[in-house]
Amino acid sequence: MQLDNTLLKVNDIYKSFDRDDVIKGVSLELNEGEIGCLLGPSGCGKTTLLRIIAGFEIVQRGEVIIAGQQVSSGSKIVPPEQRNIGMVFQDYALFPHLSVIENIAFGISKSDRRARRKTVDHLLELVGLEGAGKAYPHELSGGQQQRVALARALAPEPKLLLLDEPFSNLDVTLREKLTVEVRDILKASGITALMVTHNQFEAFSVADSVGVIFSGSICQWDSAYNIYHNPETLEVARFVGDGAIIRGVVTGPNQVSCGLGELSGNLSLPCDSGCHVDLLVRPEDVLHDDHSEVGAQVVHKSFRGPNTLYKLELSTSEICLALVSSHHNHQLGEQIGIVPEVENLVVFPSVNKLL
Ligand code: ATP
Repeated sequence: MQLDNTLLKVNDIYKSFDRDDVIKGVSLELNEGEIGCLLGPSGCGKTTLLRIIAGFEIVQRGEVIIAGQQVSSGSKIVPPEQRNIGMVFQDYALFPHLSVIENIAFGISKSDRRARRKTVDHLLELVGLEGAGKAYPHELSGGQQQRVALARALAPEPKLLLLDEPFSNLDVTLREKLTVEVRDILKASGITALMVTHNQFEAFSVADSVGVIFSGSICQWDSAYNIYHNPETLEVARFVGDGAIIRGVVTGPNQVSCGLGELSGNLSLPCDSGCHVDLLVRPEDVLHDDHSEVGAQVVHKSFRGPNTLYKLELSTSEICLALVSSHHNHQLGEQIGIVPEVENLVVFPSVNKLL
């Protein structure tokens, strides 16, 4: 018999403020130990969804179930402190007058002092702050403070951890480092977690599953790989990663003719020959090759250290992007040879049939 290991279940919830519908029929599930991430532009409803799961907001319809217990529905709300959840916020929210050890121990109700100390020591080790127990928050860097906040949230052994933009107060380098560390810490603790961010690279490096939200609805709930390589809608394709959408016509099974030439690859949609499509082309799908017959003109370039991101104008006047080793330094206006290397032809039904 297969045991159900769903830890969080959000079932078709609706939420409005006054007359504004902010969450519109959202459903999602997280299994025990899974890390999910809600990714979307500002104002799409990410924080509201997290606050509903935490019990700070009521819903008009639908239900939230945590560890098999219904905690929110149109007629019921279990208060946050009875949900067995931990929370990490972007501003760390540490107690400034308490040491690191005291901050972490704050929410542990274990009466036995020795057991409490053992838990704190274990968490200090887990977040890599073994030597910093006696320090006060103002003596720590932002990244260290956020690791203390994480340890404090994990201390009462919650079933579910909710993280709201936990890295947004940190500088870029620290953010990248901490996202990887946080994933390792969450995985080592085995906790189920749901994080909110508007930064796709954070979502990709932390989450097992990513939900892309627009205007209060989840457009795709999937692995980071699929969100990037197999976006299900044009909206998701445009929101996630760099890329260009160019017009194409299906010319055969797994064959599309477009401004980059005749492309072969796995079509993401079943399409008949003659079907007009919009084709997603990622910058890494376009290789530079001086010997290629397909040419494009450099209209913009952005140096990124190891690579340069070129904006290229095709003979169809469409724009595509190419990520090229920065050893090749092409000038604006230069005509360069390109070769498309597209394994999966990610297409969407075209509204524009002008090709
Ligand atoms: P951001 O990334 O900017 O934090 P978000 O995706 O987290 O955005 P929310 O904070 O969930 O978005 O807000 C979604 C919408 O709900 C916004 O239009 C916001 O103005 C509105 N909203 C949120 N909380 C309230 C509230 N308490 N009363 C009225 N409207 C609200």
